[in-house]
Amino acid sequence: MMGVAGGAGSVTRFAPSPTGPLHLGHAFSALVAWDRARGREGRFLLRIEDIDQARCRPEYEAAIFDDLRWLGLDWPEPVMRQSARMGAYRAALDRLAELGVLFPCRCRRADIRAAVSAPQEGVAVVGPDGLVYPGTCRGRSMAEAGPEDALRLDMGRALTLAGAAAFTETGAEFAGTHGLDPDWMRAAVGDVVLARRDLGTSYHLSVVVDDAAQGITEVVRGVDLFEASFIHVLLQRLLGLTVPRYHHHRLIRDGGGKRLAKRDDARAIALYRAEGASPAEIRALVNLPAAS
Ligand code: GLU
Repeated sequence: MMGVAGGAGSVTRFAPSPTGPLHLGHAFSALVAWDRARGREGRFLLRIEDIDQARCRPEYEAAIFDDLRWLGLDWPEPVMRQSARMGAYRAALDRLAELGVLFPCRCRRADIRAAVSAPQEGVAVVGPDGLVYPGTCRGRSMAEAGPEDALRLDMGRALTLAGAAAFTETGAEFAGTHGLDPDWMRAAVGDVVLARRDLGTSYHLSVVVDDAAQGITEVVRGVDLFEASFIHVLLQRLLGLTVPRYHHHRLIRDGGGKRLAKRDDARAIALYRAEGASPAEIRALVNLPAAS
């Protein structure tokens, strides 16, 4: 039955950021990753995505472990924690700098908004990573990079260097093989930030470096991150990393059809627990089959 789920021996992961309580959407994501690994004699790993220390709280992290255990999941210890991985992110940035695909950027959000709304710029494009960067700092060299700079990927150069690349998607909505489309990447994604000035890294860079370090063979996450995968595959190619399979699952929505947000405490797992719900009921609520 290979191919129905992640393939034999799949390594999947759940990678929450401890910035709020886990809600039904998180439980669903973790359970899908768990089921896809377990059903194929694979491994389920946990990773704490805490690069943004200003927003992360130890009590949320403790609650994540507690809720996941209550749901019936377990994972190898110690868990990977992104705040302990800055050296690995630095090394990846050094490699990208050597390849000549990074540039330092001193633009603030307001500068970018002003540049893209200048009359000669036409319509501002909002891509999966926000406003597409207008290229103001693209000519700057890494030799001038300082603490006031973010580091951006020069998308044009990166695409040329990476050449053709594709990934396999196993999620229902976009199932199939997806090649990188350079025109779309240039127009709709652009020069993404890979190292924020305040963090020294970014979601995109960290997730790529860590999925590779953990040997993840199938990345399971919400379909809202489908487009981000194109950035991730491009980075994997540049860094010489194996491209995993991707499985982007449906999103859990509230009664009004809105997707659940971090602050949607009304659907926090802790609340269901306090009201006496069972893990089996949580599975049923998100339309997952009973645990085997
Ligand atoms: N830390 C990310 C989140 O909580 C995980 C994204 C991913 O799985 O790649 O949304």
